[in-house]
Amino acid sequence: MKYDYLIVGGGSAGCVLANRLSADKSVRVCLVEAGPDTPPENTPKSIYDDAFLPDYFEPYRYWTDLTVYADPIGNRSDDQIASDMKARRYEQAKVMGGGSSVNGQVVIRGLPSDYDEWEASGATGWSYKDCLPYFNKLENDVDFPQPTNGEPGPIPVRRIFPKHWSTFALAMREMVAAEGIPYVDDTHADPKDSCFPFARNNLYDHRVSAAAGYLTETVRSRPNLSIIANAKVTEIMFAKDGRTVTGVKLQGPGAPSVIDAKEVILSAGALQSPALLMRAGIGPGDHLQEMGISVRSNLPGVGRNLLDHPLIGYAVFLCPKAQLATNVKINSLMHMRWSSGVPGCAKTDMKLTVSGRFAWSKVGRRIGMVNFGPNKAYSRGFVKLKNPSPDLMPLVAFNYLSDQRDMERVKRTAIWVSSLLSSPRMREHVISYWPGIYADNLRQYTAPTFRNKIITDIAAQMLDMGGLRNIVLGKAMDSRFPLERVLKDERVLEDWIHTGIQGDWHPCGTCRMGSEQDHNAVTSSEGRVFGVAGLRVTDASIMPTIPSANTNLSTMMLAEKMADHILQSRKTNGL
Ligand SMILES: Cc1cc2nc3c(=O)[nH]c(=O)nc-3n(C[C@H](O)[C@H](O)[C@H](O)COP(=O)(O)OP(=O)(O)OC[C@H]3O[C@@H](n4cnc5c(N)ncnc54)[C@H](O)[C@@H]3O)c2cc1C
Repeated sequence: MKYDYLIVGGGSAGCVLANRLSADKSVRVCLVEAGPDTPPENTPKSIYDDAFLPDYFEPYRYWTDLTVYADPIGNRSDDQIASDMKARRYEQAKVMGGGSSVNGQVVIRGLPSDYDEWEASGATGWSYKDCLPYFNKLENDVDFPQPTNGEPGPIPVRRIFPKHWSTFALAMREMVAAEGIPYVDDTHADPKDSCFPFARNNLYDHRVSAAAGYLTETVRSRPNLSIIANAKVTEIMFAKDGRTVTGVKLQGPGAPSVIDAKEVILSAGALQSPALLMRAGIGPGDHLQEMGISVRSNLPGVGRNLLDHPLIGYAVFLCPKAQLATNVKINSLMHMRWSSGVPGCAKTDMKLTVSGRFAWSKVGRRIGMVNFGPNKAYSRGFVKLKNPSPDLMPLVAFNYLSDQRDMERVKRTAIWVSSLLSSPRMREHVISYWPGIYADNLRQYTAPTFRNKIITDIAAQMLDMGGLRNIVLGKAMDSRFPLERVLKDERVLEDWIHTGIQGDWHPCGTCRMGSEQDHNAVTSSEGRVFGVAGLRVTDASIMPTIPSANTNLSTMMLAEKMADHILQSRKTNGL
């Protein structure tokens, strides 16, 4: 059977496309996902239930062989990056629903200026005015219903309002208000410098991933939609002319080895879509030649422009009255976007999150977090191939904080947030705070196992006993970065930031949309890959710049818009 559309990757974008394209009964659609499926009747509890982010790191739903380089790469060659720099883990989902099945369930639109910036950069038709109808189409805002042309969208947007916040988060709200950053209930209606409640794609304490929202039982029963899980696409196939895509090769138990399609849509995410293109000979000519791959379309922008939100923060040991109640499972409470005022940076360029508890355990309940970083980050990294084999993960270098504006803003914010946490007003909420780092040695205690429950129960008791407290805190703190030195010595501050900075798992920009005349654009505004026929990309990789928000909602929006465009153009072409 030859499909009209074969979608590679059942992630946030892929699930939206599979639903919307197969809504037209005349269109045959196949969705291929490398990871396991999550059908409505059989979604693992740990995905479906409300949970804390560290619990999600279960190996069976990640690309466990993926590691990345985070630090500035300077002028190192690819070989020097591999030999001199330390590779870190970086979770990317390998499961139906993709990132939306494993993420922190934050749903925030970018600022209107983000999408206007896409349009200005050459992605015609992607201004905020153009994107807004698709946000409205996908969202079901249960607090502030949006105008739609029909049913509410499949993805709920539900806020955690201040009446559910801990006193710590409320005190932070007061402190930032005193600094001129007001509180608003709905950042989507009022997208200015402000703090606001966390919004989540969660209803009745259950995650609504793209798979849950878009691949419902009714959608799955459509005869024109095939869903193949546990099958990895290894190659894009071309006709004899070398330019027209005819389908894909794939590997997986029980999966066919080849699927034919009139059009292939890559929705494999911002790290894997560019790698699939490069293996197919579409990418920077010099790099492909180095890899021994013949060049089909020389597109220097493939894999370049890798963006993310670098993030760092303070861990806060909370007074008993500032802790969330035992039965409260939510953690992140207050979100904030504000302007750094650093020369050369956009307005409303920063973000900060206040979490009332760190994890499910009793230790987690005693520790809050204040995380921050540039929402509009300027450092750019890349995705390249290490080797043409589809069995090897690509070379991913984020190059965080290589742009001085990013480092400068993180430094200034670290000092500012510390001044808030140490102010007299905070004394009734905060016992102590320290420069936090998501260290691997702590991750081992975040899986919700019986062993970890016992260990963390004992550790929590020790935390409550003044004398023994320092033993537990000593495990959590990094002795290289005591607070006093971080605040007094700029070199130590920078060291802490370089060591502790992590991505927010928002990779994007690696196959960016733009005009064909733009040397670095990879796809047209309709997602069509330049230089070949029958190949599109639709996922976070086509974003020209990073939105000032977590990326899931924008990714689903762009898939909604792309699906609409595809169906409209079929009509225009009489198909
Ligand atoms: C741990 C984590 C926390 C996050 N927290 C948030 C948050 O709270 N809020 C938010 O807005 N965003 C968050 N994000 C980011 C957000 O989830 C992503 O921006 C979004 O999911 C990207 O969607 P995508 O469709 O581009 O890629 P993905 O959703 O990653 O989908 C790509 C899919 O393609 C599949 N795939 C890849 N290669 C192949 C292949 N060769 N063959 C077949 N299938 C393949 C993958 O297995 C995957 O399922 C988080 C992400 C992670 C990982």
